[in-house]
Amino acid sequence: MNQLQTMWSISRRKSLINCPRQYVLRYSRSQNNWSQINNHSAIKHSLSDLIIRSTRKVMLERLEDHKNGLEWSKRMISLKIRLGLKSEISPERYKIIRDSYKLRDLISNAKIKIDSLWDTTIFRRIINREIKHWSCLRRTKFYSDGHIDIFCSPDISYKIQNKWHLLRIDFQGEKTNSSTELEGLAMVNWAKNNHFLPVVTEQYIVHTLKYIKGYWVHEKYIPSDELLQQSKQLLEKDVNEMNKLVKKMGPLLDISQIPLSKNESTCNNCSFKPLCPAKDGLKSSQLEQEAIEYHNAKIYFELDRRNKVF
Ligand code: SF4
Repeated sequence: MNQLQTMWSISRRKSLINCPRQYVLRYSRSQNNWSQINNHSAIKHSLSDLIIRSTRKVMLERLEDHKNGLEWSKRMISLKIRLGLKSEISPERYKIIRDSYKLRDLISNAKIKIDSLWDTTIFRRIINREIKHWSCLRRTKFYSDGHIDIFCSPDISYKIQNKWHLLRIDFQGEKTNSSTELEGLAMVNWAKNNHFLPVVTEQYIVHTLKYIKGYWVHEKYIPSDELLQQSKQLLEKDVNEMNKLVKKMGPLLDISQIPLSKNESTCNNCSFKPLCPAKDGLKSSQLEQEAIEYHNAKIYFELDRRNKVF
């Protein structure tokens, strides 16, 4: 079966960068097959990941209701987030966490994020109907670029005069890095492949709202054809890296070959931690993993050398 990775999304990219092993366990098709064959069902998403997913859905639903003249009570937000989570997990898992402090804290933090999002300039302009033409978009809609299915839809698009604004909302934002702009501009490539949006690059403006350390950070990018090309190349490079990881495991899908996270904080919210060597301390597990990687690379090098000699 073809194990090549053929999908790109911001979540996949984040996972690939933050922890290659988490990426493989969560997203690689080879690992999914391995889990099925071995009847092994690891929990793929932590509670905090699932709460974020539910929060995003609640945000969109609240906005749509606002458009239709329905206003929500404060209690409704928390209730909807909880119901969203409940629909994502098994009844057994929900029963265990239902009354936990952790779940209550996560829901209360998610509500704070939604409340403060409603206070950002873009949202205030939408709520006050200063921005009249807007629509919510679902992240499940993708476009295909050659062999890659690209999931990078904005969450909201709105039109002011002759410009289309594409907005992505990240409830778990990370600091800006050298690729942030190109990641954001992927939305324009997505939009240009959508029949309902224009194909002219200059008609777009990209926005991201990221929740970082208690604040919504707004970033704005102006696309050009050259930047859009670079954005496509970034995605290609990511998918290439994803495939390299899968190949590295070899035919036995040996997960011990795959590097661990470099940052302890990534492990804190990782659903794979109970099954990962990092559960006993990231630093020592990293050294162990690097030694395994080195040992296997040496074996392959020797085999390769012998094959060339004979
Ligand atoms: S626990 Fe840490 S090292 Fe292990 S998969 Fe998760 S993020 Fe990666």
